[in-house]
Amino acid sequence: MRRWVYSRILLATGVRARPIPGVDSDRVLTLRSLRDALQIRDRLAAVEKVVVLGGGFIGCEAASTAVSMGKRVTVIERSETLMQAALGPVLGGVLTDVHRAAGVQLVLHSVVQSVEDTGSMAVVHTDRGIIEADLVLVGAGTVPNVELALEAGLEVDGGVLTDEFSQTSVPDVFAAGDVASTFHPYYGTHLRVEHHDTAMHHGISAAKNMIGIDDTFSEVHWFWTDQYEHTLQQVGRARPDDELVVRGSLDELSFSAFSLRDGRIAKVISLNRPRTSSSPAGCSSPNTRRPQSC
Ligand SMILES: Cc1cc2nc3c(=O)[nH]c(=O)nc-3n(C[C@H](O)[C@H](O)[C@H](O)COP(=O)(O)OP(=O)(O)OC[C@H]3O[C@@H](n4cnc5c(N)ncnc54)[C@H](O)[C@@H]3O)c2cc1C
Repeated sequence: MRRWVYSRILLATGVRARPIPGVDSDRVLTLRSLRDALQIRDRLAAVEKVVVLGGGFIGCEAASTAVSMGKRVTVIERSETLMQAALGPVLGGVLTDVHRAAGVQLVLHSVVQSVEDTGSMAVVHTDRGIIEADLVLVGAGTVPNVELALEAGLEVDGGVLTDEFSQTSVPDVFAAGDVASTFHPYYGTHLRVEHHDTAMHHGISAAKNMIGIDDTFSEVHWFWTDQYEHTLQQVGRARPDDELVVRGSLDELSFSAFSLRDGRIAKVISLNRPRTSSSPAGCSSPNTRRPQSC
């Protein structure tokens, strides 16, 4: 083993796709790396029936791509709507209708119990019955790569814990990106965010602290997802009891939905209106209450 001596070190080990326990079949694939993506593309070309486990970001994007390639696609999701954790029930419902209209079979409010490879197909067992597939794509969340941190004795709680300066519980050891659960001064809690834009800015902030420039990581989180011809963007963080105010039209799939808390914008989700939520700066500006739809 080769050893490096360090003055300061950054852990940016990311996450890995969560597999379905007990399933070892080449009909069941996860998506994390470019290699995974190329493998899925090749396999999709040769199959007809595709089952997607999980209706989050990865599951929805995979489903939209597979449908666009002419495949028969079924998505199995535990919640009542797709992407409910990120979008909430109302906007999650809008996205669910988009997938339904595109021809995706949805098995919602359903839990996958196991996946069996019969030799000629995969059989997905759910609490609502079985579904057969030529290929199963798993988008069932991720597992943070915290093994190194644990071995090094760092505090870990669903991610490598850091303060707002990306400093872990051990001096001179920093963490950033998907693997880090970082104290956010604005929200007053530790957050672990799995988005590209956050990872990029978190890395920059951590690097500044590592070279002695104090830098608080207080980014307001922003992400996008492309599904079919639609682009959805979100900036900020909401609570279930926030007031939802919609500008534009949910039915016409062109809207910006503002989550308001105490008269301020806590979060914006926009569909096919890229300018509304393209700048995190918009999230912190004060806002007066508006009518429910304008
Ligand atoms: C299919 C897919 C689509 C996505 N789409 C979007 C999107 O549309 N919008 C968005 O905002 N975000 C998206 N993301 C999330 C985004 O890619 C991540 O938030 C971002 O890559 C996190 O960056 P990171 O550097 O923290 O981790 P990673 O990019 O995961 O990099 C971590 C690296 O560390 C390496 N590593 C791990 N352990 C070790 C070790 N012990 N020794 C050496 N190396 C190690 C890993 O191999 C990996 O290369 C997507 C992710 C996936 C998988």
